[in-house]
Amino acid sequence: MIDNLFQKIVSLSKRRGFVFQSSEIYGGFEGFYDFGPLGVELKNNIKKAWWDEMTKNQKNIVGLDSAILMNPRVWQASGHLTAGFADELVECKKCHHRFRKDFLSKNKCPDCGGELTKPRKFNLMMKTFVGPVEDETTTTYLRAETCQGIYLNYENVLNSMRMKIPFGICQIGKSFRNEITPKNFIFRTREFEHMEMQWFCQPKTAPQFFDYWKKERLKWYLNLGIKKANLKTREIPKDELPHYAKRAVDIEYKFPFGWEEIEGIHNRGDFDLSNHSKHSGEDLRYYDPSLRSGQVKEKYFPYIIETSVGADRSFFAFLCDAYEEIKKGRTKTTKATKEIEILLKLHKKLTPIKIAVLPLVKNKPKLVKKTKEVYQMLRPYFVVQYDEVGSIGRRYRRQDEIGTCFCLTIDFESLKNNDLTVRYRDTMKQERIKIKELILFLKSNV
Ligand code: ATP
Repeated sequence: MIDNLFQKIVSLSKRRGFVFQSSEIYGGFEGFYDFGPLGVELKNNIKKAWWDEMTKNQKNIVGLDSAILMNPRVWQASGHLTAGFADELVECKKCHHRFRKDFLSKNKCPDCGGELTKPRKFNLMMKTFVGPVEDETTTTYLRAETCQGIYLNYENVLNSMRMKIPFGICQIGKSFRNEITPKNFIFRTREFEHMEMQWFCQPKTAPQFFDYWKKERLKWYLNLGIKKANLKTREIPKDELPHYAKRAVDIEYKFPFGWEEIEGIHNRGDFDLSNHSKHSGEDLRYYDPSLRSGQVKEKYFPYIIETSVGADRSFFAFLCDAYEEIKKGRTKTTKATKEIEILLKLHKKLTPIKIAVLPLVKNKPKLVKKTKEVYQMLRPYFVVQYDEVGSIGRRYRRQDEIGTCFCLTIDFESLKNNDLTVRYRDTMKQERIKIKELILFLKSNV
């Protein structure tokens, strides 16, 4: 267990360009964050790993990118404008701080011990207006989940892609929730990215698909290097189920502040399609030619199994899991500075910078020229960084800290032999490799 891991991740994020506070020069904006140059690479890699998993590794899933703003009637049908999407809010009568009731263990203000008001329902949807007039007729909401866009396009996708049940539609996009207490860095924010997949199936097959998706989703994290001991699932008790769900399981990660949800898997039954049918007047039942009439109805509302994960929240989990500290450093051969070394053991698919190219010293023009040639050669294929500032040991440590898979060092021998040294991040093993074999080597190793 690393002391103060939470603080260390926050500080690394700012120091090395992963995550910044939004509107920082204006004092910040609570519940909003910006992703810096390394953060956007890492987040894109997480999204790409998820997208590839859904659309390439799994069968029969197609993608979608629907609009953030939708007809406000959508949110009537989905239950988001009623109590279904509201948290219970309490306010301290003394200091006027507000809290989500289910986050409090005692019936007292956690900040000043003051008395709390009675809970009232607080809707999490963020309102906006479309067009020049601001009244009830032009009010709509920033979506709180991306899946509604999927339900609205269910028939379009079915018909245009000639899909047959069972099949899935997946989508990545921004969601907005007016969280009462955004907290724990990027764990709970008011704007975040959802990665959601909706699996449409015959009602009787829903339980078996639920179990299938639960296993597959756990596997995804493990395959991307999350430690088994830091992952678990939690069956949601009946009285805590969301308004749309028949069954729900959370995948939880052991964050520095405790076990918390990173992904929800839900059996949504026919709640969504039947409600959208009712509210829109469109018949969204599925005609299933595989069912013989007389035995089972040929037309029915498919059941939906949903997998729903936040790109930002899983980003945080991947960072926490990859973070290691080595007291007094790893280098045994030299008298390297004996300070704590940080190693970010991100999976090679996720790590923001794959390769760093380093001249052994920066004051030898021939070395620098050759290093820059290698750098230019690699740029079309990999996210690669050139770094010449500081001693070579310090530069290795800087790259270890951001998870770079390989450091390539060009030294005086390289000028004669047209080769370089490859240094592996996790083992610090070094080997020489010919420059003409480099791209092949890296392509099979990154
Ligand atoms: P919670 O109980 O934590 O408020 P939820 O059960 O409402 O979350 P879902 O609607 O199931 O969350 O969303 C699925 C996933 O979306 C979550 O597991 C999380 O990864 C992500 N997510 C939800 N709300 C937020 C948020 N405010 N900030 C960041 N990520 C979020």
